[in-house]
Formats: sequence, C-alpha cells, structure tokens
Amino acid sequence: MKKYLNFINGKWTPPTTEEYYPVKNPYNQEVLATAPLSTEKDVDTAVQAAKKAFESDVWSKKTPAERALCLLKLADLVEQHAERLAKLEAQDVGKTLKYAQDSDLPFIIDNLRFFAGAARNLEGKSASDYSGMGMSFIRREPIGVVAAIVPWNYPLYIAVWKLAPALAAGNCIVIKPASITPLTLLEFADLTLQAGIPAGVFNVVVGSGNVVGDALMKHPDVDMITFTGDTATGKKILHESGSVKHFELELGGKAPMIVLKDADLDMAAQGAVVGGFWNSGQDCTAVTRVYVHNSQFKLFVQKMVSLTKKIRLGDPLAKHVDMGPLVSAKQLERVESYVALAKKEGGKIACGGKRPSDKKLAAGYFYEPTLLTGIKQSSKVSQEEIFGPVIAIYPYTNYPEALEKANGVVYGLAASVYGMNIYDCMEMAKHLNFGTVWINEHGVLASETPHGGFKQSGFGKDLSMYSFEEYTRIKHIYIDSTRQKQRSWHYTVYGDK
Ligand code: NAD
Repeated sequence: MKKYLNFINGKWTPPTTEEYYPVKNPYNQEVLATAPLSTEKDVDTAVQAAKKAFESDVWSKKTPAERALCLLKLADLVEQHAERLAKLEAQDVGKTLKYAQDSDLPFIIDNLRFFAGAARNLEGKSASDYSGMGMSFIRREPIGVVAAIVPWNYPLYIAVWKLAPALAAGNCIVIKPASITPLTLLEFADLTLQAGIPAGVFNVVVGSGNVVGDALMKHPDVDMITFTGDTATGKKILHESGSVKHFELELGGKAPMIVLKDADLDMAAQGAVVGGFWNSGQDCTAVTRVYVHNSQFKLFVQKMVSLTKKIRLGDPLAKHVDMGPLVSAKQLERVESYVALAKKEGGKIACGGKRPSDKKLAAGYFYEPTLLTGIKQSSKVSQEEIFGPVIAIYPYTNYPEALEKANGVVYGLAASVYGMNIYDCMEMAKHLNFGTVWINEHGVLASETPHGGFKQSGFGKDLSMYSFEEYTRIKHIYIDSTRQKQRSWHYTVYGDK
C-alpha cells in the first residue's frame, strides 16, 4: 500500500509527527493508501519554501511565456495520466468513474491550458494626464504566498481552479486538500516536478482542518487565502486569520430552480434531476429547491419521480452506475438527519428517503436519490445546505412569490430558470440574487466563465479572467512628465521656489 508524504520544496517530506492515517474508499471501506498527519511545523516549512521561491527569480520573475510553458506541459502530463487520476478520484470520493473521466479530468486539463494562456494576457490600464502633469500606469503583480484550502467533493478539480491562476500570475502556493480525499492532488504534485515547476513554487501539506488548515490561514507569511468549503468554516477563517491578507471565499449554496408556466416540463424535470443528483448531490451548485406553478405541480413531481427512479446506484467504477455512495459516514448521517426532520415536520417523501435495501451496497455510504414535497419555506430543510441527494419541490401561485422564495435563503451561489419566453427568463435572471443564473440549463461551468457567490456564499471568483485577477495586486505608478519643479504640489507647499 502506498504511503504518501507531504510535497514540500520539490521533495517528498515526511510529517514531523511521523504519523499517518488511512484513506478509505467510501464504497467498500478498503484502505487505498496512508497519508501524513501534519502539524504547524510542516505548514511553516512549506510556507517558508514558498516564500523563498517567491522572493527568488525561479518563478515570479520568469516571463509569462515561461510560466505558461510549464502549465501547458503540466496539462499534457495530466492528460497522459488522466485515466489513472480519474480512477483514483472515483475511489477516493465515491463519485462515478464515468463522471470523473468525462467531467473532472477534461475540465482540469482545460483549466490549466486556459490559465497558461491567461498568463500572457495580463493587462494593466493607463490613465493619461488626469492631473495635467503626468501619467498613471496600473501594474498587476503577483501577491506572494497563496494558501489554498479545498474541500472533498471535487478534490483535484477545485485545487486546480486555484493553483492554475495563482501560478500563472507568478505566485507560489501551499495547498491543503481535505483530509479524507488527498490522493489525486498528491499524485498531481509528482507531475508538477516533471513539468519543470521549480522547487518551492507548489507545495502540498496534508492533515486536518483544525491543525493544518488553521496553521496555514494564520501564518504571517501567507499573503492570500483562497478557500472553498462550508460557510461556517469560511467565516471562521475570515475572523481568525489574524492579519491582513487577500481573501477569496467560495462557500456553501442552496440553489433554486424556477420553472415558469411556459417551460418545457420534460426538459426542466431532466435539468432538475441531473443538476440535483450530479456527484450524489454533493455539489455547491446542485439543484436543491424546485419552484413549480400550482397548476403543473402534480405533473411535474411525477416527471421528476419517474426520472429519479431510473438512477442506478452501485460501484462507482462500474460502467452502468449513475450514482456512487456519499463521501463519508458523517455526510450520510447529515443527509439522514435532514430527511428525518422533513418527515417530522409533515413533509412527504415522493421517492427515496432511505438507504438502499440492496445488501451489496451495505458497506458503502449510499443514500437513495430523494424527492421531498410539503416542505415549508421556513424549515431548515429549505434553508440549510444538506449537501446530498435531496431535492425539495414547492408549488407557487405567481412569479413574484416564486422569486421571493428562491431568493429567501442566506446563500447566493447559483440558480436557474426554465421557460420559453426569454423576456420572463431574463427578468427572473435579473432579480435572482445569485452569482450565476442559468436559463434552460443548470450546472454548466467553463474555464472562461466566472464562478462565485453572493451573500453567505462568499466573495471573489473562481474560473475566468476575473479569477486570474484575484491572484494579482494592483499597483499604481505615476510619472511626472513636466520636469517643472514649481508645478509639483509639495514644492509649492514648502515654498521652494
Ligand atoms: P469544510 O469547510 O468542512 O472543509 C473545507 C476545507 O477546509 C477542508 O480542507 C478542511 O480540512 C478545511 N478546514 C476545516 N476546518 C478548518 C479550520 N478550522 N481552519 C482551516 N481549514 C479548515 O467543507 P467540506 O465539507 O470539505 O466541503 C463541503 C462544503 O464546501 C459545502 O458547504 C459546499 O457548498 C462547499 N463548496 C463550495 C464550492 C463553491 O465553489 N462555492 C465548491 C465546492 C464545495
């Protein structure tokens, strides 16, 4: 069995504790490998390596073309190893191999290539002669040492969303993967060496959030924190990081879908089922609340039930399987507790609502894809993030009510509208208080499009050139072009004429 170490300063480095923990497959509890249980000291070693690399000329002072070349090589290497990485991701997270192969890995490769291109397209504006005495230039510079803390639902995918723009802009990075899913990022670390990314520029430290995450976010030599995870953890990091740092926070979601009266109901039902149960519903943008007009409610629920019943649960590596287990016992308990609350409050289970009875699945953290009705808007089931395969369907009487309910949560990450009248769809999109609104779709992301939330879903953007800019700081340089001493304000003030 493979014993993974931390990746620090271009070397595989044992943790100072010399302790390791088992990383298990949530489908059958098989131990896949062991990973290091690191401490503050390991974090400090990694941050010092990143700082030294940043201050030297190995990366931040390279030309954009040189950095782009390394990222392009890295993308090619990931492509060569895609099959192996997809399988490992499927085993570590419990997501289907089909999904890891067709979605995660191609997106990771494309993202590395997109930000390689972005490295060569960083622009700074200039403002000419606004003072009548000179010119201003705006320079975008790398920030320094970036600490990235990432979740378990898309372990390599979300890590790459952060490391690709950070490295393209010339920063050095220390990443902490979620402790239950560190394996693909560690395998990826090996590829960074082969791609020619210099020692210290890219580092991975593995361990718990409370120890490694905490030490990383509080480290005085970390200049920026980019975090994806739960809103509660994001708030804690924001409040406790202890010094002034750049922040980018991608937090929880509770995505609504509004089905307008003229929507194609089959298309909308399919969008809701695919968008809600993708990755076993463990997705921050997953459809969690569907609002349907009263007159179509019964029919729409039937359509969703019939599609949901077709979802095949099983071994994530098997070809015919649509949904694997949840990632952990903790996540399964969380989902069970929300469904129990829904029942207690008088909600109805339209389908699912339990663990599958198939004995072959007993060792995995499986939960049937579940549709709920009769849930009050004020219920925790409507308001809080369940983060599992559970969708609630609600009737509405008019569009203002649908909009008010869709917006009536603390989250603001993503939403969708289904309808045929583009004016109504656009009007809804304008008033939906979410960072992304899809029309007649739910869940499409691309390297070119920004992803990030409003309200308690965080701030800043992943993906796109907006994300690239997050990893830069803006410097204003002013040049006096007059060469006339007496026109400069400080000489006037001090009477030096
Ligand atoms: P989490 O907040 O528990 O953990 C995220 C990361 O933070 C992990 O690496 C964890 O070890 C670390 N961490 C935990 N406690 C910490 C602490 N005190 N200090 C520093 N680091 C700490 O989240 P999770 O359960 O891994 O992921 C699920 C959550 O992530 C959901 O809320 C989901 O909506 C959110 N998410 C958001 C997006 C987005 O783009 N907005 C994408 C994916 C997931």
